[in-house]
Amino acid sequence: MKDYIIRATAGDGQIRAFVGTTKHLVDEARELHQTTKVATAALGRTLTATSMMGLMMKNEKDKVTVIIKGGGPIGTILVTSDSKGNVKGYVTNPNVEVENYPNGKLNVAGAVGNQGHVKVIKDIGLREPYNGSYPIVSGEIAEDFTHYFALSEQTPSVVSLGVLTRSDEVEFAGGFIVQLMPDAQEENIAILEKNISNLPSITNLLKDGKTPEDILNIVLDGLNPRILDTCEVKFDCECSKDKVKEALVAIGKIALSEIIQEDKKAEVGCQFCNRKYNYTESELIEVLENM
Ligand SMILES: [Zn+2]
Repeated sequence: MKDYIIRATAGDGQIRAFVGTTKHLVDEARELHQTTKVATAALGRTLTATSMMGLMMKNEKDKVTVIIKGGGPIGTILVTSDSKGNVKGYVTNPNVEVENYPNGKLNVAGAVGNQGHVKVIKDIGLREPYNGSYPIVSGEIAEDFTHYFALSEQTPSVVSLGVLTRSDEVEFAGGFIVQLMPDAQEENIAILEKNISNLPSITNLLKDGKTPEDILNIVLDGLNPRILDTCEVKFDCECSKDKVKEALVAIGKIALSEIIQEDKKAEVGCQFCNRKYNYTESELIEVLENM
């Protein structure tokens, strides 16, 4: 079964919802970046939510980037999605280890930290992309997205995200975002609140064999959910030797000159997918001359 996210509406259009299974794309991120369990969970939750935010974008070429910096040992989490929900992302420290919570659950907030901000950059084809920064509230990721939607978009939302890693592989990953539109009526909000209050965690639902369609029907029970479309999503990096070259420009003239003199070549990895690109001495000189 491939990864997909369903987009749905309920309560006569007063509620919109995104529900997805993202096991494969999260596992690909784990494989590419060799993340520890807790780093896989933090990155996977962010990949899942950002993919849904990508699907919220209006135009085909729109892009959204989420940068979470909570001051914890994982460093920065950075994820980008296109308007089809295809995502790529990385964390600064994929080797981060923190002690689990006493109940055995991964301490994602311990890795991410809760002193910092969630930054969202929306590239919607304007000269200056929309750019908003909001304080991080928990470091567990889902609550931080909830907070972001409330503050930046004045949209009350329920966000649930989960990643379950077995010894070495992502077994289940997914989540949902349910949002109240401005015209949402009290009675529908009450039904939603009741449904959510009885809800098992997203990973438990997936573990029980529930599909995104099943989860939609559970979360929006009594609210006539209707699926608008089903979007296949994946981890997708469109890097090239030319794009990764920008990393050489970023290190500056002096450092690049040193590399040319000392190594006469360079290997640069793409931050997002770790694919390696090799540059010859003459290619490096060309980069330097164009700086
Ligand atoms: Zn790449």
